[in-house]
Amino acid sequence: MGEILAYGDDYKYIPATSIESGSGIEVLPDLYCYTVQIVNIVLIGNPGTGEFVLVDAGMPYSANKIISVIEERFGMNKRPKAIILTHGHFDHVGAIIELIKHWDVPVYAHELELPYLTGKTPYPDPDPTVEGGMVSKMSPIFPVDPIELGNRVQALPGDGSVPGLPKFRWIHTPGHSPGHVSFFREEDGVLIAGDAFVAVKQEYLYKVLTQEQEISGPPRYLTTDWAAAWNSVKKLEALKPAFAITGHGLPMEGQLLTESLQTLAEKFDEIAIPSYGKYVN
Ligand SMILES: [Zn+2]
Ligand SMILES: [Zn+2]
Repeated sequence: MGEILAYGDDYKYIPATSIESGSGIEVLPDLYCYTVQIVNIVLIGNPGTGEFVLVDAGMPYSANKIISVIEERFGMNKRPKAIILTHGHFDHVGAIIELIKHWDVPVYAHELELPYLTGKTPYPDPDPTVEGGMVSKMSPIFPVDPIELGNRVQALPGDGSVPGLPKFRWIHTPGHSPGHVSFFREEDGVLIAGDAFVAVKQEYLYKVLTQEQEISGPPRYLTTDWAAAWNSVKKLEALKPAFAITGHGLPMEGQLLTESLQTLAEKFDEIAIPSYGKYVN
């Protein structure tokens, strides 16, 4: 019996590319952020050891690019120990099926995200009417149908540990999606925030294209629970991260991160929550 791995029927290439697309930043010797069009993937692990984990899986049709970025950093035919997902939106799982087939590695996500990854539930439709931005206006083209990863995707362990990353723990940060998680390494304050907050105003095409750095709430057109999203940002701010890699935008660190995140946590209603939109009440 062959297993069925499939994208949703609305899976497609999304024509949007930022100036950072195709470039990578080594934030720490074992922490590498690479931009695929308009979304970041993160490689955690030291190139010297050849052992690493991939966080998120890029845009649709980006598998060959992701594989070559990894081979360039870790060596030919190297594969991650696991693929860990912050959540299952199309821009974070875009290449995952090709990657699973190429590497034969396990995938982990929060159990509340599994229905979207096992063919059961589509994400709510993006909101093109939400306050602000050209990306919001184009959001109806974004894929929302569930993908089918069958038993290749597993729930993250209930004890907060992260497979393949012993020094990290996962933190449930819902709001942008029900099973959204972030990853934190206490010893040096590294935070992988996914879309719990981002470092660019993701709704505005101009800012996405130029990657103008500005802390922002989760991308508005796909966020459905703003109260939960605010709580999640407060939770992450309380960790006082020293480095943050977010799903969109450039890595942020030090005082800029501390101050920006504090402001976002305090004034989330002004900065992040749109004044109108179908998921705002
Ligand atoms: Zn998202
Ligand atoms: Zn995203």
